[in-house]
Amino acid sequence: MSIEQQRRLVTELPGPRSLALMSRKTAAVPDGVGTTMPVFAARAGGGIVVDVDGNHLIDLGSGIAVTSVGASAPRVVEAVTEQVAAFTHTCFMVTPYEGYLRVAETLNRITPGDYEKRTVLFNSGAEAVENAVKIARAHTQRDAVVVFDHAYHGRTNLTMAMTAKSKPYKHGFGPFAPEVYRAAGSYPYRDGNLDGAAAAARAIDWIDKQIGAENLAALVIEPIQGEGGFIEPAPGFLPALAAWCRASGVVFVADEVQTGFARTGDLFACEREGVVPDLIVTAKGIAGGLPLSAVTGRAEIMQAPHVGGLGGTYGGNPLACAAALAAIETIEAEGLAERARKIESLLIERLSRLRDRDDRIGDVRGRGAMIAVELVRPGGTEPDPRLARDVARAAHQQGVIVLTCGTYGNVLRFLPPLTISDKLLNDAFDVLDAAFAATR
Ligand SMILES: *Cc1c(COP(=O)(O)O)cnc(C)c1O
Repeated sequence: MSIEQQRRLVTELPGPRSLALMSRKTAAVPDGVGTTMPVFAARAGGGIVVDVDGNHLIDLGSGIAVTSVGASAPRVVEAVTEQVAAFTHTCFMVTPYEGYLRVAETLNRITPGDYEKRTVLFNSGAEAVENAVKIARAHTQRDAVVVFDHAYHGRTNLTMAMTAKSKPYKHGFGPFAPEVYRAAGSYPYRDGNLDGAAAAARAIDWIDKQIGAENLAALVIEPIQGEGGFIEPAPGFLPALAAWCRASGVVFVADEVQTGFARTGDLFACEREGVVPDLIVTAKGIAGGLPLSAVTGRAEIMQAPHVGGLGGTYGGNPLACAAALAAIETIEAEGLAERARKIESLLIERLSRLRDRDDRIGDVRGRGAMIAVELVRPGGTEPDPRLARDVARAAHQQGVIVLTCGTYGNVLRFLPPLTISDKLLNDAFDVLDAAFAATR
């Protein structure tokens, strides 16, 4: 069943059915689980989410960078349907199945680096990040882990320690795991355009003095920071850190959970500067919406944990593996990395025009279909989270799903499915233009 690719509101948002479901949510689900919009989904595909009242909303979020191939991509639907009829689960650690191997072989082939690799599968991004740290520690026999300001790596205990922002992710949930250290990164808009080499030298000097490379198992970094505000480091920053890690025996881990699978206009964001990580962590866009994550990396590092040291009941579930193979095939067959670059041109053009007439837009940045604007008080760089919230809310009411992010909560981020049409994007940005005008 195909979904008409057009924004159309048939009720106010939220409509009566969503309102009724929201009150059931309040009674059944803890408030700790928030929702961006009080609107319940019924169907989704292409660039549209249809709600339970029949409203057609434009999707600029992809369920947080997950449904890059669309929320009901034909190849994914077909592959999962076939697999669900064959078997749903045996546990790869009990009686393995080929789908897991095919995903591992595919990731070994398509991730950066032409060295021998291995891949292990998990369920969530956070779980994969934790396992990358376990693998790096087993390999190096060292404890310390370096992460960066504005980093987001998940909500489990170890990954809370690795995530920078207290509220809402960490507040009240400590104590946190030890031996996690946070370095200053590269944030061109807020660090006076410090060049990449200088920002890397600053971090490396700090690591040398306060941790010591010989104590450091891994440096974990998002090539473009996601939840922290779509912060793209200055050119040269990532290559300098990767080179230092190589020279120091430190495992360089790229957390590409949000940036992976064509989202940034390359299959992986590291590729833009030719950075080859030792381990790469993937999730979100990997399987067209089914829960799957992976750690892929150099065979000699991946082989460090003892037999039975890695795994989990559901890791590499057969439905998720079938979906991943179909999603990756879709990305390759439909040229979705190329499509992400086209989306980048359209969005940057629209947002630059908006910035020219609105001095509350401090920065327009990002790559591919991972684009953001950082909102500030006119005349300076003071963050304006309220404006981000007001604009997002106005867009929501007009049927455009848009997300905020950022350490200061003042970033509007745009993560459309790569299958969205230009027509829908232009309609959505007309709505955003009007939302900015209405908050003047
Ligand atoms: C979302 C995200 C995670 C956590 O993934 P979950 O599947 O939510 O556990 C980790 N790292 C980055 C960069 C992310 O964007």
